[in-house]
Amino acid sequence: MSALTNESEEHLPVRTVAIVGGTHGNERSGAELVRLWTERPELVRRPGLEVSCFMGNPAAVEANRRYLERDLNRCFSPDVLAGKGDSLEERRARELNELIGPRGSDKAPDLCLDLHNTSSNMGLTVIFNYLDHFTRKLVAHLAANEPKARLYYQPVDNSTSEFLPSLGKHDLTIEAGPQHHGTLCADLHVRMEAMVHEMLDFCAAWNRPGFVEPPKRELEIFTDLKNIDYPRDENGRVSAMIHPGVDGMDYCELPAGAPLFLTFDGKIVWNPETESVWPLFVNEQAYYEKGVAMTLTKKSIVEW
Ligand SMILES: [Zn+2]
Repeated sequence: MSALTNESEEHLPVRTVAIVGGTHGNERSGAELVRLWTERPELVRRPGLEVSCFMGNPAAVEANRRYLERDLNRCFSPDVLAGKGDSLEERRARELNELIGPRGSDKAPDLCLDLHNTSSNMGLTVIFNYLDHFTRKLVAHLAANEPKARLYYQPVDNSTSEFLPSLGKHDLTIEAGPQHHGTLCADLHVRMEAMVHEMLDFCAAWNRPGFVEPPKRELEIFTDLKNIDYPRDENGRVSAMIHPGVDGMDYCELPAGAPLFLTFDGKIVWNPETESVWPLFVNEQAYYEKGVAMTLTKKSIVEW
């Protein structure tokens, strides 16, 4: 059993939920869902819950591009929120902080959910960054209702995070892939929609007096280790591709010493890690500019 220990067993209500889509303008599932729910708020209404929907980056959604000047989902650092930077996205981050947060204040929503797509073969991935009682029970519930869901634990402190959902007291990101950026895949879209409804149902049930917690279940958790870049030549140019044995193999075990990259002149670059790792965000199209070929994680089994 893993060292992912319980932080708190306290059962605190979750009354306000902010749902954000279109944080990246060409990740269309979340953008379309938020558009639908803004027009028809009754679809996300639940007794005892106050649910608000936000289009993260409307200008980028309009242009069907990830961002126009700077990646909005890296604009929530304390510096930017305090006024640093004048790009469209930095200004939008401060607006969203006022609209949704402010982060760290009492007014901040109890839960902020951010909806993304990825070009990587990650299925429906739930990303969470705290191990408090509510988060553990919520992700266990989501995994129970979507057996193919993957759970990715990315420990980040919300007070210094660059990510949008840090505006909430709890936060959650759903990544759905593989989907070409700028397009829509109906199967992923429908499954993401169902997962958001499951999440809202769970929050409403959680607040009801006498809520009976579901029995603990065994779950696979993938914990963030680090991002790795592509091999590069002396001029900094990418000099290799993801090895065909790894491409598309998100969440599959990559043993120490296994083939990792294939150079353009046909040489194999071997995995330098000394133990098995489990890659995800493999070959994500939007991460070429960030120098990220994949994220390496460690798999563990927990009972939540
Ligand atoms: Zn995204």
